[in-house]
Amino acid sequence: MPQQPLAQVPMDATWDWQEHGACRDADTALFFHPQNERGSSRLRRDRAAKSVCGRCEVRLECADYAIRAREPYGVWGGLTEEERENLYVRLSSHDSARDRGDGIRAIGVETLNRLAAQ
Ligand code: SF4
Repeated sequence: MPQQPLAQVPMDATWDWQEHGACRDADTALFFHPQNERGSSRLRRDRAAKSVCGRCEVRLECADYAIRAREPYGVWGGLTEEERENLYVRLSSHDSARDRGDGIRAIGVETLNRLAAQ
């Protein structure tokens, strides 16, 4: 996975949930688009990645981390880059979440589930 700038990584970030991710043995290329990927190729890859996330037992933990870290790249927690980008602009700098669970609370589980199911 791409390395986040250290300043954006939540101070209480933990990684143990990744051990339980449904993507653990998947090709990371499914979750991160190659340069210049566009259109239907990108849509197909994103949907395939979201499908893996859809059966992942740590999807909410993953989405929470990605939102709090403002992860710019890849599919995390069933959310594409564009979906997360739209969420980030809705969050003010005051919502810069430092505590575990704040990403979920800022967006709401129902919204996360709805986006992940698209
Ligand atoms: S939600 Fe998706 S990206 Fe996150 S750990 Fe699960 S399968 Fe991997």
